[in-house]
Amino acid sequence: MSYVLVAGEALIDMVAQQPGVPLEQVTSFERCPGGAPANVAVGLARLGVPVRFVGVVGDDPFGRFLRSFLERNGVDVSGMRVTGEALTTLAFVANREGGEREFAFYRKPGADTLLRPEDLAAGTVRRAAVLHHGTVTLADEPGRSALLAALEQARAAGVTVSLDVNYRPALWRDPARGLAEVRAAIDRADLVKVSREELALVAGRDDREAAMRLLEAHPRIALLVVTEGAGGSWAVGRDGQFARAPAFRVEAVDTTGAGDAFWAALLWRLWEAAARQGVPVVEAARRMSLDEMERALRYANAAGALTVRVRGAMTALPTRSEVEAMVEAGSR
Ligand code: ADP
Repeated sequence: MSYVLVAGEALIDMVAQQPGVPLEQVTSFERCPGGAPANVAVGLARLGVPVRFVGVVGDDPFGRFLRSFLERNGVDVSGMRVTGEALTTLAFVANREGGEREFAFYRKPGADTLLRPEDLAAGTVRRAAVLHHGTVTLADEPGRSALLAALEQARAAGVTVSLDVNYRPALWRDPARGLAEVRAAIDRADLVKVSREELALVAGRDDREAAMRLLEAHPRIALLVVTEGAGGSWAVGRDGQFARAPAFRVEAVDTTGAGDAFWAALLWRLWEAAARQGVPVVEAARRMSLDEMERALRYANAAGALTVRVRGAMTALPTRSEVEAMVEAGSR
């Protein structure tokens, strides 16, 4: 098969060095490569899935660092653009008490918002097996229009569309518009990942029935996956099939990137299933038995757990053998 095309933000997470303190009071930060889609790209590469990343960084030390970090990790960065029009986006992150995170984005505009339709040239999209994205890119122009055009091309070419909602309220001046964009993105996706909080946001509730209703409202979705942090994850398929897998018990040091590691591993399992059967990735998702779905969730949970054990997001993403070892240890 060809490759997964990941579009969106590569940015620097400035992670607070003092845990449990509001951003206002933090005095030092660690520079960590991040951005949810970029994390997924590196996660896929470490798991051995061919992946291209398309996004924009600034012509500055942080942009150069991000590009070379992705490249060193095996991501095809030939579609990454360096701009002189804005600086690389920064996201300052504080880990508040109780695991809640507080964000301040330096992005007015940040380089990642400057994605243009040419960056996602039709050929690149059309040749991909999967186009993966989040909703951060939809908050600003011209990135929003560029991504929407790519999603149109993906639909026309039968490319499987993967969405991690990854809703960041701080990025939307108008919350109602943010929610409408999230709903429209869900409507265009084949594979959807939401956290429990995001499910409540778009479906009113965060239980299985709400997930089923969401599937009914968005007929294109083949697989809806819900993550619950230390509670593990579950998934609902189009035929009403329901799978659940508990999280691995680990000591959580930094939860940044857990969802991205999780989704990269789930895409990896779907990628392998699709390759084995010689079908599109979305079709592999549709054909998954309950057993296979549970197994895929276990792999994804293991990737998430391995990421929360260490500080940082992208730097903590596991390799294939690390995930396999954890799944095996857990099922003995
Ligand atoms: P997101 O980062 O998208 O909000 P979650 O925090 O729900 O996603 O994490 C994704 C997955 O990572 C979870 O479903 C779980 O498998 C794993 N994970 C997250 N936090 C922990 C934790 N504290 N202990 C074990 N596994 C975790």
